[in-house]
Amino acid sequence: MDVTRRGFVATLAAFAFPAVALAQAHALEPVPARARVKILATGGTIAGAQSRPGDVAYKSAAYDVGVLIKAVPGLGELAEVSGEQIASIGSQDMNDAVWIKLGRRVNQVLGSPEIDAVVITHGTDTMEETGYFLNLVTRSDKPVVLVGSMRPATATSADGPMNLYNAVAVASDPAARGRGVLVVLNDRIHFARETTKTNTTALDTFSSPNRGLAGLVLFGKARWFSRPAWKHTAGSAFAGVIPDVLPRVDIVYAYANVGPELVNAALAAGAKGIVLAGVGDGNATQAVIEALAAAAKKGIVVVRSSRTNSGAVARNVEVDDDKLGFVAAQELNPQKARVLLQLALLKSKDPKAVQALFDQY
Ligand code: GLU
Repeated sequence: MDVTRRGFVATLAAFAFPAVALAQAHALEPVPARARVKILATGGTIAGAQSRPGDVAYKSAAYDVGVLIKAVPGLGELAEVSGEQIASIGSQDMNDAVWIKLGRRVNQVLGSPEIDAVVITHGTDTMEETGYFLNLVTRSDKPVVLVGSMRPATATSADGPMNLYNAVAVASDPAARGRGVLVVLNDRIHFARETTKTNTTALDTFSSPNRGLAGLVLFGKARWFSRPAWKHTAGSAFAGVIPDVLPRVDIVYAYANVGPELVNAALAAGAKGIVLAGVGDGNATQAVIEALAAAAKKGIVVVRSSRTNSGAVARNVEVDDDKLGFVAAQELNPQKARVLLQLALLKSKDPKAVQALFDQY
């Protein structure tokens, strides 16, 4: 039999007897080792329980990480999974102390050659803030994926188990490396920097209005669309910089007829920075702008962001940032601008230097 004919017979045999073809393939390629994924749990609805099935009311953070892992069929085949409880809170109670603990632990865990990726279970209310904080302070290119759910674990059609399965799959995917911190829910992969919660209860609450999705994940198979354009994780100037205390930064919300009182209250409370959740392109009443300008003169760093939920706030459009000494938040929404300002203030109180950071992160 000549070479061509032998090849044809082998091909035919492979089609006719897939098991033979599979065995041959296995003999040639070593079975890939499962990724070693550490799940750090913080609570949230994904760990929530109703007292009776069908109840609207539920309690966040009722189950610990071991229970969550056991509830996901096939998780152990995807990855070598271990769990650790960092906190047990609804994410409306997220605070600087938990961020500091979590950020340090993520860096410690990812610094180990025994771990390939981290998944963090988290409530969805402040997931975008925690995700962006970790995007700035994580000192590693290894994947970090935040995951939550909109329905508690006891609900009919609870979304937590599939979200956790997909999050572990994304974290185990070598293609997730170097993309910054990711958020996985409802079959979508978001960049933590881009995503925001946009609906109180819907399963597709997360959207990434400016730059779109990082990718999709369906039954554990990820499909990647893009890479982040901004500095993050191992390339971040904040990587590994996690002090014991973060500076106080408050957000002042703008609306029709708002006076200077909220700005003054933030100053009285000891704010070192103020983020304006401005109307439109980071605007506010003259009274608020004047109060902020007075604060900036005293060395408080003022960042103008927008309450509109998408778009960018650029410098000197309707407000003279150069003259008043303000910083423009670019694409960061107020809650994310607050996170960057907390870290930026550790480096500088000069609005020009802070603006340079907002232009890069
Ligand atoms: N308040 C809850 C939390 O953020 C609700 C949202 C959730 O987990 O999906 O923890």
